[in-house]
Amino acid sequence: MLDNLFADRVEEMSNGELAEFMKLVGQGDVLSFAGGIPASEVFPYNGLKDLNDRLLNDLGAEVFQYCSTDGSDNLKEYIVGFLGERGINTSKKELLITTGSQQALDLISKIFINTGDNIIVEKPGYVGGIGAIKSYQANLIGIDLDKDGLCVNILEEKLDRIYAEGEQIKFIYLVPDYSNPSGSRLSLERRKKILELAERYDFYIIEDTPYSELNYFNERLPFIKEFDQDNRVIMLGSFSKFFIPGMRVGWVCIEEGMIDLLTKAKQNTDLASNTYGQELLALAGNSGLVDEQLKRVKPFYKARLLKMEESLQKFFPENTSWYQPEGGFFFWVRLPENIKSRDLFQVAIKNKLAFVTGNSFFPVYQDGNHYIRLSFSDTTPAEIEKGIALLAGIIIDY
Ligand code: PMP
Repeated sequence: MLDNLFADRVEEMSNGELAEFMKLVGQGDVLSFAGGIPASEVFPYNGLKDLNDRLLNDLGAEVFQYCSTDGSDNLKEYIVGFLGERGINTSKKELLITTGSQQALDLISKIFINTGDNIIVEKPGYVGGIGAIKSYQANLIGIDLDKDGLCVNILEEKLDRIYAEGEQIKFIYLVPDYSNPSGSRLSLERRKKILELAERYDFYIIEDTPYSELNYFNERLPFIKEFDQDNRVIMLGSFSKFFIPGMRVGWVCIEEGMIDLLTKAKQNTDLASNTYGQELLALAGNSGLVDEQLKRVKPFYKARLLKMEESLQKFFPENTSWYQPEGGFFFWVRLPENIKSRDLFQVAIKNKLAFVTGNSFFPVYQDGNHYIRLSFSDTTPAEIEKGIALLAGIIIDY
């Protein structure tokens, strides 16, 4: 391998440790709290099977043709209605369909970031978002989170300092609802404050919303985009967590003037997202299957969340801490000072148990030394109880 020929950005792309862990997790009989994935057993298999026949009858061989780069008109029309019901007044001209919202993170990074540009991320923040941003050689600035999301006082101080020094930031990347990995939800007050800061200092907010529909206890808070009068918010959405991820369909809602630019970036990346999946999702949406699925998955995941909370309370030692999330897929647990999550993982995996170590979720690796992410979405309540008891035993033995 002539690795001396690789581009500099390859250095920034290494997510080696996570890939290494995931390989171990994928081995046979491991009980895994690692993957942030939906449970396949709750997918609307029968409903989609029926719609699939209908799709092939209605659209014929056209579903196997290339799609336009900006995405299926049918799907965009459905998303306009979906967002409209959620307080976002938009139109097809402001939508671009992407290959999962992960692609949107890449495209946005591609159009904004020059080497060394300042980008603000949550600390801890979504590993795939941090990865996409880092691969364009940005200067990542992490801002702490608590249960109510990003700490806006820290953000404001940081921004004041950055702009006083004559620097700027390009965007802030946020997962306001049931963040991955922390499970936190950004409070209403903080949503408004961040928007005010974006308007004051002229930067964009990337509002990534894959878990927003998965609110198990109370009403969803308004999206930041709902208050956005000045086109400061670029909103990302995805069918992956509340419906199905395998079709790889997400979307970007952005001011009309930027659609062309994003479309060009997407064209250079994959020409278009898959036609078949987009049309199937449009049909699923229009025939009520998406709404039906939302009603089904919320109690399903809520039961798992409550089981994990109960098991943590029952088995985990006093010197660990966490807060109960109100939605999404994750618990974020702080370990005792003497235990590094990496070391704990090595013991856990020998006991056929997996989770994700906290390190990959921080711009500075060591900051995650004492945290683990436990996903409850893809394990049954019985497995949750068994796995948490086992993990607690390992922590206590340490
Ligand atoms: N954003 C967040 C916060 C996520 O957790 C994920 C999936 N893990 C994504 C984006 C990407 O999801 P997808 O590409 O499947 O839409």
